[in-house]
Amino acid sequence: MTMKMKVCWMYHDIMDLYGDKGNILTLQKRCEDRGIEFELETCGIGENKELSDFDLMFLGGGADKEQISLIPDLRSRRENIKKALDEKTFVLLICGGYQLFGQYYTAADGSRIDGLCFNDYYTETGKAGSRCIGNIILDAQLEDLHTKIVGFENHGGQTLNVAHPLGKVLVGEGNAFGAGYEGYYDGRMLGTYLHGPLLPKNPDVADFVIMKALQKRHPDFTYKDLKPLTNPFDQGARKALFERFHIEA
Ligand code: GLN
Repeated sequence: MTMKMKVCWMYHDIMDLYGDKGNILTLQKRCEDRGIEFELETCGIGENKELSDFDLMFLGGGADKEQISLIPDLRSRRENIKKALDEKTFVLLICGGYQLFGQYYTAADGSRIDGLCFNDYYTETGKAGSRCIGNIILDAQLEDLHTKIVGFENHGGQTLNVAHPLGKVLVGEGNAFGAGYEGYYDGRMLGTYLHGPLLPKNPDVADFVIMKALQKRHPDFTYKDLKPLTNPFDQGARKALFERFHIEA
């Protein structure tokens, strides 16, 4: 039986900052290399879409302007997103998308954007002109997968009150200046500030996301069921960052 992964890329036309599209391309390549059919749909503002049909919903990063322009549409889908989550659609959120799933986001100009309130965290603006920018490395325990996650962060928003962070910060800032922890993971959704983009630099996290998505239709599917892939480029970005910051791989 051929397995299939159905992905919905939300607001693909406006939320695609710093190469977030690479996350989609990585998922596609790693599925296709294993004979898993990859079906991609996009969803723009005003488009009619049943989100619970998908195994994965992806929302990338965007600047304040884009976040403000899409939030009425995103809020109008709240019940549908809740249905999708209840029916085990996995949700991957990067930066601006991550912020919008919390209580609120205060943009750099002081305007408050009410979030979807799926999570208790909220995001306030930092001191004028100050942003968390730079390479970042995390130590993360994603269920059975213990790994180091590498990436690049660039956010003004300071995310606070995060109940279940994605990982402990080894290099960089994280959810806020000096936060010590980065991102959010609760088994149903993974939110992170890591751009760069996230998945090409972290193939094990890409496979973890594929596993979570496939579990919607195949609850017994495990990480070990994913055929190992040997791509010589897989580890390149990770190795370079580990060496640069003297972190053990
Ligand atoms: N506008 C948000 C911030 O600066 C998110 C930016 C992003 O997605 N990189 O915090």
